[in-house]
Amino acid sequence: MSRELIDLAIERLREDFPNKSRSWVRRALIRFMKGTVREFNENTWVVKGLTELGDKYPTYVVRFKDGRYYCSCFESNWGLRRKSEICTHIAAVILYRNYRKLDSDVYASVVNIECTDYYLEIPSELRGRVRVVKSVRVVDATDRLNPRHRVTYVVYSSEPMELRAKLVCDGDIRELSLKLTRTRRYIVELLVR
Ligand SMILES: [Zn+2]
Repeated sequence: MSRELIDLAIERLREDFPNKSRSWVRRALIRFMKGTVREFNENTWVVKGLTELGDKYPTYVVRFKDGRYYCSCFESNWGLRRKSEICTHIAAVILYRNYRKLDSDVYASVVNIECTDYYLEIPSELRGRVRVVKSVRVVDATDRLNPRHRVTYVVYSSEPMELRAKLVCDGDIRELSLKLTRTRRYIVELLVR
């Protein structure tokens, strides 16, 4: 496993659950690092119990249904207390999924510009298939009302493709021809941090 990907996977988990404690994150990480999570099918995972974390059962089943996660530990003795929480079995599954996603292939193209006003438009028929993320940094704030920005756009998709995009930079409109080539998902994340 790659340290950089693990850090990013934890970062995503913390963003999704900002109110969870450090110890919650640490327990999820222990479960993940010990390789206790196995994918059973698209919406079901089996998590091996760890006695050192207080588990009473050898395995727990985590399911994803109707937009939320359920764990078999909800049905145990502690069920009533735990039902309202997100247990660390679920957190370990989320870490596992974050990691797998970051480690997967995507097809991407990067556009770097420096402008005061900027906009990148993707043909509407590609919405849903193509995603655009950006990072923006101020490079010159001499004119406080109109600072200059350095903008990095990453256009990506789960499939290779060539597309036309419209780039607007300070009133200058350019038609771009973008070829999305294979890279890893975490590279996209690193580019727009
Ligand atoms: Zn659980």
